[in-house]
Amino acid sequence: MDDHLDEVKAAEEMDRLITDLRHHAELYYNRDAPEISDAEYDRRFQRLVALEQRFPALVREGSPTHEVGAPIAGTPFAKVRHAVPMLSLDNAFSADDVQEFFARIRRFLGLDAETPIPVVAEPKIDGLSASLRYEKGRFVLGATRGDGYEGEDITRNLALLDDIPKTLRGDAPEVLEIRGEVYMSRAEFARLNETRVEAGEAGFANPRNAAAGSVRQLDPEVTRRRPLHFFAYASGEIQGADGRPWDTQEGFLAALKAWGFAVNPLARKCETVEEVLAFYDEMADRRATLDYDIDGIVYKVDSIAWQERLGFVSRAPRWAIAQKFPAEQAKTVLEKIGISVGRTGALTPFAILTPVTVGGVVVSRATLHNEDEIRRKDIREGDTVIVQRAGDVIPQVVGADKDKRPKDAVEFVFPDHCPVCGSLAVREPGEAVRRCTGGLICDAQAVERLRHFVSRDAFDIEGLGEKQVEAFWRDELIRGPADIFTLKARNDRNEIDLAGREGWGATSAGKLFQAIDARRNIALDRFIFALGIRRVGQATARLLAHHYGTLEALREAVLAARDQESDAYRNLVDIDGVGPKVAADLIGFFAEAHNQEVLEALQKELKVQPFERPVGGGESPVAGKTVVFTGTLERMTRNEAKAWAESRGAKVAGSVSAKTDYVVAGSSAGSKLTKARELGVEVLDEDAWLKLIGRG
Ligand SMILES: [Zn+2]
Repeated sequence: MDDHLDEVKAAEEMDRLITDLRHHAELYYNRDAPEISDAEYDRRFQRLVALEQRFPALVREGSPTHEVGAPIAGTPFAKVRHAVPMLSLDNAFSADDVQEFFARIRRFLGLDAETPIPVVAEPKIDGLSASLRYEKGRFVLGATRGDGYEGEDITRNLALLDDIPKTLRGDAPEVLEIRGEVYMSRAEFARLNETRVEAGEAGFANPRNAAAGSVRQLDPEVTRRRPLHFFAYASGEIQGADGRPWDTQEGFLAALKAWGFAVNPLARKCETVEEVLAFYDEMADRRATLDYDIDGIVYKVDSIAWQERLGFVSRAPRWAIAQKFPAEQAKTVLEKIGISVGRTGALTPFAILTPVTVGGVVVSRATLHNEDEIRRKDIREGDTVIVQRAGDVIPQVVGADKDKRPKDAVEFVFPDHCPVCGSLAVREPGEAVRRCTGGLICDAQAVERLRHFVSRDAFDIEGLGEKQVEAFWRDELIRGPADIFTLKARNDRNEIDLAGREGWGATSAGKLFQAIDARRNIALDRFIFALGIRRVGQATARLLAHHYGTLEALREAVLAARDQESDAYRNLVDIDGVGPKVAADLIGFFAEAHNQEVLEALQKELKVQPFERPVGGGESPVAGKTVVFTGTLERMTRNEAKAWAESRGAKVAGSVSAKTDYVVAGSSAGSKLTKARELGVEVLDEDAWLKLIGRG
C-alpha cells in the first residue's frame, strides 16, 4: 500500500470505495445485474479492508466490511451524514403569513414594492423525505431525512422504486444530490391495508406511515412489493464542471424531468402574491380528489440568484415557505385529564379520549398544553371536546362543546403535588408551567432524562429505545446516562446478566454492546442536546456547538459566565438565539454538582467530537472569528451581511468586547466603533469586509 497516504486522502478513498461497493452489492444481490466481475468486486473490497486496518479511526459505521456479502437484512441501517443538511421549511398558516413571507424577502433583498417576486408553488406531499446521491450520473446512495443532518442509508430499498432513475439521462453534474418525497397513493394504500388486515396484520394509520414503513424494511423483498412513488423537488450537494445549468427554480424542475425524475405536474410558477393565494385555494378545493395526501403548498423563490442571497436561518431557507392546509377536526368525549411529568419536572396535562378518527388517524390522547389553557377553555372531564390534528403535530383539544356538558361536570383542579414522587409542584411567577421540585429523587425526571438521552435526535442507540432504557432503569441496570456505556464492562464482570434477561439473548446483547460502542464518538451538538438542559433544544444546541467548538470550551465559558459582569457572560447572551433565559438554564445546569458528576462520568466513556464547520465554511478566513456589524451598510442589508458571515463560519455578536475579531463599520457608525478603537479591534469598512469573505 502506498505509504504517503494521509488520513484525509484515506478517508476520501474509503468513502468512495464504500459507495462503490454498496452500489455493486445492490446490483448483485437485489437486481441480479452485476456490472463488474466478482474478482474486481473482491479486489475493491480487499482494498477497503486494508485501509480500515491501517486507519482504524476512520472505519465507518455500516461499512460493507461489517456486513460481508449479507444484504442488510437483520442489520440496522447505517447512518449517513448529509453533505448538505436537509432542512425543514418554515410554516405559514394564513394568507397574512404568506404576505409577510414576501415582505420579509423584500426587506432582506432591499427590493422596492413594485419589483415582482416570482415563486414556484407546488403541493406539499405528505410522505417521507429522502435524498438521492448520484455520482457521474449513477445512483450511489439514498438516505432518509433523519434529523436533517444525519439520516439512514436506505439505498437498497430506494433503488427498487421505478420513479427513481438508477442512471440519469443526458448531462448531469459530477455529483448531484436530489431531494424529494417518497409516497404511496391513496388507492394503493387502501389495497395494501386490505391485504394486511386479511392476513391478520395491523393496518397502517395513513399513507405516510405506510410509505415510511415500506422504505425502512430490512428485507428489500418487502419494499419491492410495496407500491411506492417519488416526486423530486430540491437539490443537495452539487459538484462538477457545469455546476448548476439552471438559473430559476422552474429551470431546475425542467432539468429534473430531463434527467428522468418524476416532478409533480401541478407545480406552477406564480408572478404575484394574488396568484399564489389563488393557487392555494384551487389546491385546497382539489385536495380531496387527488390520489395522494398533501398537507399544504410550498412556495420557492424562482430566481436561484435570489435564493443564494437569501440563504438560511438556523433551520430553514429564507426563500421558501410551506403554507399548511387547515387542521382536521373531530368531536369526542374527554374521559379523563392525566398529568405527565417531563425530564425537567414540568407537569403537563393531557386528555384521555374516547378513540376517534381525525383525518384518517385514530386519536385517543391529545395535549391540553398547560394549566391556564384548561382554565381559559374551561375544559372538564366528561366534556364533549373538539380534537384537531395538523400534519405531524400532536393532536390537541381545541375546546369543549358546553351544550353537551354533563350536569355533574366540575371544574378541573390542577394538582399542586407531583403525581409521580409526591413532591410539591410549584409555579414560578411568570411561568406557564408547574414543576415538580423533587429533582433527581423524582423517578419521572430521572427516567425522562434517560429517555431523552437515547432519543432519536440525541444518542439514538440502535436497540436501546425509550422503552428499553425505562426497563433498564426500573431494574437498576442503568441509573444515569454514563451507566449505558459501562453495561458491557459490568456484564463481562458478571455483575449483571443482560443475555439472561427476558426477551434477550447472547446475540441481542452483543448487538446492543456494538451499537453502544458505535456511539462512543458523538457529535458535539447531539451531545449538548442529549443532556436535556431546559430550553436547550436542537437548534440551540447547534448554536452553542457552532459558537464554542468543543465541550471543554463550552463548559469553561458557561462556568465563567456565572459572573454576570464577565466577558464570558456577555459573550454567551450575545449569541443570537441564546439570551438571558437560556443562559440562566445553562449556568444552572453546569454549576450543579450532580450534573458535573454526570459529565465527568460520560467523558470517561466517550469522545465528544469538536463541531464540524458546515461545508464551505472550513477554508474561510473568517471561520471561527467573532464579527460585529455597526452603522449602515450600503451594499447589502444587515440581515444579509449577517447571514453571509455565518455561512462562512463566523460568529456574529451584538456588542464589541476584547474577544471581537472584526468590527465592520458602515456609514454613521457610533459607539461600537469608538469602543472597537479603544480596544484595538480591527475595523473594516464594508468593501474590505466583502473582499475578505470573497464577495468583493
Ligand atoms: Zn416528581
